[in-house]
Amino acid sequence: MAIAKGYAATDASQPLTPFTFERRDPNEDDVVISVKYCGVCHSDIHQARNEWGNGIFPMVPGHEVAGIVTAVGSRVTKFKTGDRVGVGCFVNSCTKCAERNVDLEQYMPGIVQTYNDVEADGTTPTYGGYSDSIVVKEGYVLSFPDNLPLDAAAPLLCAGITLYSPLHHWKAGPGKNVAIVGMGGLGHMGVKIGHAMGAEVTVLSQSLSKKEDGLKLGASHYYATSDPKTFTTLAGTFDLIICTVGTVIDWNAYLNLLKIDGTMVLVGVPEHPVPVHAFSVIGGRKSLAGSGIGSIKETQEMLDFCGKHNIVAEIETIDIKDINQAYERVLKSDVRYRFVIDMASL
Ligand code: NAP
Ligand code: ZN
Repeated sequence: MAIAKGYAATDASQPLTPFTFERRDPNEDDVVISVKYCGVCHSDIHQARNEWGNGIFPMVPGHEVAGIVTAVGSRVTKFKTGDRVGVGCFVNSCTKCAERNVDLEQYMPGIVQTYNDVEADGTTPTYGGYSDSIVVKEGYVLSFPDNLPLDAAAPLLCAGITLYSPLHHWKAGPGKNVAIVGMGGLGHMGVKIGHAMGAEVTVLSQSLSKKEDGLKLGASHYYATSDPKTFTTLAGTFDLIICTVGTVIDWNAYLNLLKIDGTMVLVGVPEHPVPVHAFSVIGGRKSLAGSGIGSIKETQEMLDFCGKHNIVAEIETIDIKDINQAYERVLKSDVRYRFVIDMASL
């Protein structure tokens, strides 16, 4: 066992504080990673505050992990010491599905989340990337393209793949009108990736305060949802809407912005259910769908796509001692556009 340092929430009502814990010795198929940077996802806040009701405490959050390989087990073939690697939202999964090559392991019951879960052997909790090291099975480790800096690429591991997957699945590309609701960590990645895929991207944000940035990142249009005119002007406009908002908003109003046969995909996770009227989808044969992160294969494909198009997150780097203030700023939509913890500050 190696001693690891990190930051943890000791329970749902407590701020994150320094925490020391044990990382397992690497098995023959494990990769040991020195964590250099970790992105701060809104899901970290939901879980550290137990808003989804499944919290295991003490909890070390962090599932946008970027670092350098420091050791590998004897049977590891894909990685070697010194490689620039990442770990996303899960560190194990149902192997039967992997054998069948379905590449949807993120939806299978055997998934083991990077933190707030229990290792596949059932013995120890998983602890995430707000820490100096992590030990992960080779099959769940991703490679960063050489041209992407580790700090700004870290958020690709959750924010990037969470937008890439539905954009790819619902075929965002030339001739498609795509709206991204919410210009936060996930949303700004959706703008960059959707634009790189060739779609015409519109941002639907609460205000126009981030309009200039949105247009610079690749959006063609930017509207404020606080202006009721937005919902009349844009009625029937979009083939695809991806909603990244993690609080309750009126999804019916957004469904009305879809074209016939359009799809609205939920990726944001409000704490409470949202009522949807049947007529919101009956009129126009619309679909209301959801999407969760992506498979390991798709995540590597996304990293390679981002390498090719030189896409990384817009980040604000913080010291780990400032994590609690960072959470408060995320809650106020006061982040441009992802906080990334510099683990050298630990
Ligand atoms: P974030 O950085 O806080 O971004 C969310 C954005 O939503 C904000 O920047 C804001 O954009 C908008 N927003 C916030 N409050 C709002 C309100 N009351 N009304 C309307 N819009 C509001 O969070 P994130 O890290 O992108 O995560 C977003 C959500 O996705 C969270 O619920 C998270 O748990 C979830 N998530 C899901 C997956 C998945 O696999 N499905 C993966 C990762 C995260 P504007 O300022 O532009 O309005
Ligand atoms: Zn996340």
